[in-house]
Amino acid sequence: MSPELINSIATVVGVIVAVFGAFLFAFWIAMGIWTFNDIRSRSRDWLAIVLACVLVLIFPIVGWVLYLMIRPKETLAEVYDRALEEEALLREIEETLACPSCGVPAKENWVYCPNCHAQLQHSCPSCGNLVRNEWEICVYCGAGQQVATPRRMPSPQVRPIQTLEQPAENGDETLYRPVRLAK
Ligand SMILES: [Zn+2]
Ligand SMILES: [Zn+2]
Repeated sequence: MSPELINSIATVVGVIVAVFGAFLFAFWIAMGIWTFNDIRSRSRDWLAIVLACVLVLIFPIVGWVLYLMIRPKETLAEVYDRALEEEALLREIEETLACPSCGVPAKENWVYCPNCHAQLQHSCPSCGNLVRNEWEICVYCGAGQQVATPRRMPSPQVRPIQTLEQPAENGDETLYRPVRLAK
């Protein structure tokens, strides 16, 4: 072998090694950048971010595999989305209406509670729309509402007045009334 041939082979090998080394270096840098971006989307803790990058940069392939095994499962965006979903679910549960006096579930358009007969809604004196009794103003026209405490159906209130106006004449009726009032 002539010295020139050995020389040129050495040159070619040198170039191949340099190119391969450059490729490895670029791969190493890219892995570090990828890890940095990945851990940043999963954690706000700077110590965790630095540790993850150091782990991957010091032990290029093994460290990267280790990082994939121990990194936080969810990204911060996923955690945020889940929190939003949970909040929406909670709000939905809270928004399910219930009668303020007995707690029985009531539909939004019900005016009286089917269980305790408490009035749940009234017509706004200003615009006529149905307004829930616990609201301080009408949500449609903004007029202030007088009704603050739940009112009951007229029937249980009317009967005691009739009792006063028409005194009981026989014992049966006086016995009968308290039963009706207790409703
Ligand atoms: Zn009720
Ligand atoms: Zn109104």
